[in-house]
Amino acid sequence: MKLIFYGACREVTGSNILLEAGGKKILLDCGFFQGSRLAEERNFEPFAYDPSTIDCVIICHAHLDHSGRLPKLYKEGFRGTVYATAPTKELARLVLFDTEKLMSEEARRSGGKVLFSQADIDGVMELFETIGYGESLEIAREVKLTLKNAGHILGSAVAIIEGEGKTLVYTSDLGNSPSELLEPPDTTSAADYAICESTYGGRTHEDIAKRHEKLNAIIENTVRQNGVLMIPTFAIERTQELLHDIEHFCQTENCEVPKLYLDSPLAQKVTQVFEKYPEFLNGKVRSAHDKDIFGLEQVTMTRTVEESQQIDGAPNPKVIIAGSGMLNGGRILFHLQKYIEDAKNTLLIVGYQAAGTLGRRLLDGDSKVKIFGKNFAVRANILTIGSYSAHADNPQMINWLSKIRGIKKVFLVHGEGSEAMSLAKSIKTKLALSALIPQMGEEYNLVES
Ligand SMILES: [Zn+2]
Repeated sequence: MKLIFYGACREVTGSNILLEAGGKKILLDCGFFQGSRLAEERNFEPFAYDPSTIDCVIICHAHLDHSGRLPKLYKEGFRGTVYATAPTKELARLVLFDTEKLMSEEARRSGGKVLFSQADIDGVMELFETIGYGESLEIAREVKLTLKNAGHILGSAVAIIEGEGKTLVYTSDLGNSPSELLEPPDTTSAADYAICESTYGGRTHEDIAKRHEKLNAIIENTVRQNGVLMIPTFAIERTQELLHDIEHFCQTENCEVPKLYLDSPLAQKVTQVFEKYPEFLNGKVRSAHDKDIFGLEQVTMTRTVEESQQIDGAPNPKVIIAGSGMLNGGRILFHLQKYIEDAKNTLLIVGYQAAGTLGRRLLDGDSKVKIFGKNFAVRANILTIGSYSAHADNPQMINWLSKIRGIKKVFLVHGEGSEAMSLAKSIKTKLALSALIPQMGEEYNLVES
């Protein structure tokens, strides 16, 4: 077995690892690089390998930074098989079409480039073969793939690859548990090598139980101030968790509930996929709610641009949930430029903000920001609830790894340098294992035990 790391090296986006096993070339994820722009320049650079020589791709979950370059791979000659769970296939399709649309709009507005076409998405979707949790498939001669629940987003998987006398486990993104909607990540009993994410490698999340309290206080404050609460979200999982939590708020708090808008056609479609696959949700959610898990009855869904613009004319107080999650595009920016200069409004950040994004700058306390080329003074409250993270923190990752017998080496990806380094240190002190943090393009031969 040989591994070459081609993405998410000392950063959190662009996941892409080439595994050579059983004489085949297997890709683990094929994601977008994301930064200040949706389609970063690096996505346009040629792959470091010839896409037509790739035999298969394992897409562990549908987030853009894990699936976004699949249509480009197809465009440049890939015709192998894409392995994923059924929800990942459906969600990836939605995410890819949405991305193509946003890229095309940006290209029309400012002359940017488009990475792939709708036909490329259709083409690569034809290559999917779905696989359930716990099922095993032979993906190369005497090389077996098993997917297990990663507890990160709907359909997310940890990939276990056995071949050439070795076992490799790849977390892709490992969930933060307990999750309101998903079962905790599955563990695996033994592996020789582990590739782990390290997004929050050096940190411990705040107590998940405090989340409802905090969210309720923020909503109540918005009502009291007659303000606007803007929540930039990732369309998958975070939106559904928020809807589920706000539904809980509406049921338990005896106060005025502000008007709630879900201003994201993508998030609306994603929510339908969640409703289609209840078996991928946790038992608690399934047993507590027969229907309307997400309280959709009280949510106003805005589809067209005109409907989105009408939100601004609606009376306060109101809550607006819109993309993109890191404020590097999407409808949230139109609301932000309208509301950011008023101190009675709030921007609530509930997800990871990559370096270089507007979300990161706001979180870091910048008092002036540029939106669509115009300057704005930041007067709205910028708040964050960390426990919405969909990623395991340091103690969770150490605990997950501690259950796996026989690990010889750990590779850390999908984390900024300092986070990966902190996790490497903990892995060494707490588990007595050596952890490497690969550089872009670095190659490792996995030797037999
Ligand atoms: Zn993810």
